Amino acid sequence: MDKILIISAPSGAGKSTLIKHLLRCFPNQLAFSVSATTRSPRHGEIHGEAYYFMSEQDFQNHIARNEFIEYEQVYAGLLYGTLRSELDRMWALHKLATFEIDVNGGLKIQEQYRSQSLSLFIAPPSLDTLRQRLISRATETPERLQQRLVRADMEMSKAPFYDRIIVNDNLETAQAEIAFIVGKFLEA
Ligand code: 5GP
Repeated sequence: MDKILIISAPSGAGKSTLIKHLLRCFPNQLAFSVSATTRSPRHGEIHGEAYYFMSEQDFQNHIARNEFIEYEQVYAGLLYGTLRSELDRMWALHKLATFEIDVNGGLKIQEQYRSQSLSLFIAPPSLDTLRQRLISRATETPERLQQRLVRADMEMSKAPFYDRIIVNDNLETAQAEIAFIVGKFLEA
């Protein structure tokens, strides 16, 4: 059966590092959904790899054509969404369709594909740790940083709706845990 892996985490919880680990463990079995967004590319982000970067108007056209499985205004004025064509693309490759998206989008996909999905929530050890990680990453303006911290609270409150919560306290432990869980799901 075609399967779906959903991974969500507050910004700064260490999701990217854990995902890199998954790619090392399962180099040929996972395909990652490329989301559409209206936010500007960060340095080094490539269109079609990090995101499909699009104008607000383009995004609205996709909404009007009902081409999103889900979409959301994650931050004020910034839209993010999952195109149905991404799911088709990943399943056509016979890979585990993996979605790295925010909690509302993740839970919407879980709802639509309950019997074939596994959802993982990556939690930081504390909100303080999250703040430190976001500050040291230094990719955000103070205003954006504040928005991300407020949002982190909301995201943490959705953790209980996920199948599994992985606390990213000790990196090696979290890496081993996520690899074990995903390995089992791939075999099932
Ligand atoms: P960033 O701007 O840091 O790349 O992403 C901001 C947030 O948008 C993250 O929480 C990320 O998970 C979320 N996000 C990325 N793609 C999608 C998507 O397709 N749908 C939804 N709902 N959220 C997304």
